[in-house]
Amino acid sequence: MTERIAPRDSVALMDGYHSPQLDVAVRLNTNESPEAPPEAFTRALTARIADVDWNRYPSRDAAELRTRIAALYGLSAGNVFAANGSNEVLQTLLLTYGGPGRRAAMFEPTYALHSHLSRISATTVVEAERGPDFAIDLDVVREVLAEHQPSVVFLCSPNNPTGVVDPPETIRTVLDLVADHGGLLCVDEAYGQFAEFSAVELLGEDVPLVVSRTYSKTWAMAAARLGYLLGPRWVIAELEKVVLPYHLDAMTQIAGLVALDHLSEMQERVERLRSERQRVSAALSELPVDVWPSEANFVLFRPQERSGDQVWQGLVDRSVLIRNCSSWPRLEGCLRVTIGTVAENNRFLESLREVLQ
Ligand SMILES: *Cc1c(COP(=O)(O)O)cnc(C)c1O
Repeated sequence: MTERIAPRDSVALMDGYHSPQLDVAVRLNTNESPEAPPEAFTRALTARIADVDWNRYPSRDAAELRTRIAALYGLSAGNVFAANGSNEVLQTLLLTYGGPGRRAAMFEPTYALHSHLSRISATTVVEAERGPDFAIDLDVVREVLAEHQPSVVFLCSPNNPTGVVDPPETIRTVLDLVADHGGLLCVDEAYGQFAEFSAVELLGEDVPLVVSRTYSKTWAMAAARLGYLLGPRWVIAELEKVVLPYHLDAMTQIAGLVALDHLSEMQERVERLRSERQRVSAALSELPVDVWPSEANFVLFRPQERSGDQVWQGLVDRSVLIRNCSSWPRLEGCLRVTIGTVAENNRFLESLREVLQ
């Protein structure tokens, strides 16, 4: 047999994305919504899909969807780029503004896909550190920008996997610094609807800022694969050149539109999760674990007396699956639990109490 062709170097070194999909009763590992979207949404979606012209390509510019998303923020369609999940949004951003000879900077620990997608797009990764309690340290930002002049700088607020929110002042300052050296700031707000402040209010035609959001977490639609980016028209126009033609299929576009007809029910889901997050955080703070304050739909914690692996396995043995971050750099011993339904959260807390005993 002839020798198999190897992937290009940066890919050969890569480690793929893993989150085990185990068969358990309580799944609190990927920050999905525990509730299905409203029934009225599912009915309307089914009816609309029956009318799709399946022999035709879908709307290439997804104009209706982009117009409706833009209206949520007082923007216009030209300020919105929609794609198959915010991961595809970020990938397109890096294919456009990253690439060979360019750098992307991120502050670890943060969402693993920021560095992963940078590598895939042959962008040089500049991994800087967060300060104590995972806050952004502005002195570090200044150093990194001065030394590396990254084309793209990522923030993630609320940050995954820590749940920590960047104060508005931090985001404003980072934006000023990025603007000064001619880069682009991307604030990943996958969990934005769970938090108080949004960088959306800093957007402007002459501001080098983009904000990515997704239907996956807040809007109970991880299965639909729909995310979007808000930004200046000149950025969106470049992204549209790079993304594959007709990348957003007809069903996804319709799902995105129909969801916007059910916003108040979507918002009720967010409110329920926020109040459950408070309850779970409070319960965790009564246990022998360190807990970080979260403004997302998950909470990061670290058992004080047991290893993360032990506790994770103890929970799996009780049919509760959470995210084991304990071997991730900078997160030694940490576990991340997604907020579920009241019943799921109770089952998690009871199982955790048993395991920690
Ligand atoms: C889940 C997540 C995403 C990606 O979500 P999609 O399902 O691809 O829209 C992006 N950023 C962060 C921080 C996430 O946690």
